[in-house]
Amino acid sequence: MYKNLRLADNEVAQALDLEIQRQRHHLELIASENYASVAVMQAMGSHFTNKYAEGYPGRRYYGGCMHVDTLEDIARNRAKELFGAEHANVQPHSGAQANMSIYLAMLKPRDVVMGLDLAHGGHLTHGHPLNSSGLLYDFKGYQVKKDTERLDMDEVRAKAKEINPKMIVVGASAYPRIFDFKAFRDICDEVDALMMVDMAHIAGLVATGHHPSPVPFADFVTTTTHKTLRGPRGGLVLCKEKYAKEIDRAVFPGIQGGPLMHVIAAKAVSFGEALKPDFKAYQDQVIRNATALANSLQEKGWRIVSGGTDNHLLLVDVFANGMLGSEAEKALDKAGITVNKNGIPFDPNPPLKPSGIRLGSPAVTTRGLKEPEMKQVGTWIDEALRNRTDEAVLDKIYKEVEQLTEKYPIPE
Ligand SMILES: *Cc1c(COP(=O)(O)O)cnc(C)c1O
Repeated sequence: MYKNLRLADNEVAQALDLEIQRQRHHLELIASENYASVAVMQAMGSHFTNKYAEGYPGRRYYGGCMHVDTLEDIARNRAKELFGAEHANVQPHSGAQANMSIYLAMLKPRDVVMGLDLAHGGHLTHGHPLNSSGLLYDFKGYQVKKDTERLDMDEVRAKAKEINPKMIVVGASAYPRIFDFKAFRDICDEVDALMMVDMAHIAGLVATGHHPSPVPFADFVTTTTHKTLRGPRGGLVLCKEKYAKEIDRAVFPGIQGGPLMHVIAAKAVSFGEALKPDFKAYQDQVIRNATALANSLQEKGWRIVSGGTDNHLLLVDVFANGMLGSEAEKALDKAGITVNKNGIPFDPNPPLKPSGIRLGSPAVTTRGLKEPEMKQVGTWIDEALRNRTDEAVLDKIYKEVEQLTEKYPIPE
């Protein structure tokens, strides 16, 4: 796929080759990552990158937009069909920008917004003090319940009544359970708040009905396109028709200039893939694989936050077994298993040395791993963590991981 690049620029091609080798030979358990198909990558590497197209189909600031207009309409229509939405904006360059566009369209600086605490699974763009969301708006966090480590809708309601937010943001980067969107809608109606759902992590599961859809309930739904949805890196906004104009204006010219038409082409391809029956079977396996991994670790004495998972990810409380998430991440890296350290609810440890690790099944499921292999992955994780200072053991696992990955190629 990269023949010309290799001829033209050896320095970049070498870095790319090493990255492809890393992707081939490591087990990717980062819950927010996936492998896009070759068709998606080809659309991203296409001539569409050459075209400026500020504006929207039929209303552009540049000439020569007839074909990108067709393309953007294909992408928007597929997104609407996939999620049953009234309006779609496919231009946000990322999930962060999709969120920013909603805030810009609907909020004034210092408005009160409620979002899931970052320490309880929320995202940077839900009010982190260094993110524009936290700098511009007055975010107040809601939390999971201490004993169940799940959202308790009575607690969320009480918090909403106490702080009276203009908007409630629902969604997470590290929450392994189902969101009750209907209950959030009821609460939003009770306190007269707008409802925004950031389904960045679970969009693929929503597309196939493996997680209930927020679209019937939320005023706005944002997502990334590169996580469980398995498209190119990028963002997407869905909303009710009555907000379409305001949202479109907030994306462009509000926070962005020209759209990335090559990425929009790749989004269209990935939405087309997600509309096919195969994608449903894939998401089914994503959930089975996350469950199999959680069970495998639980059987070996690891505490899984909230007792398991309903979706594609799980949080392991490694501190319960006497180590930090940062130490676990490092040891697993040496064993060829890529994960990220992650805080757990009510974490007694600081963010850079948190108590947990986050594991996800989307990427390895794309490669074709199934329950028996996930059980094996659980065995390797257990062995690596219990022998985390023993280089010989970590090296032995690395070689075993490499053998497994050779049987499950990545798209290339
Ligand atoms: C990943 C993620 C985002 C941001 O996506 P980027 O494309 O990295 O900007 C936003 N919200 C949630 C919940 C996420 O998990």
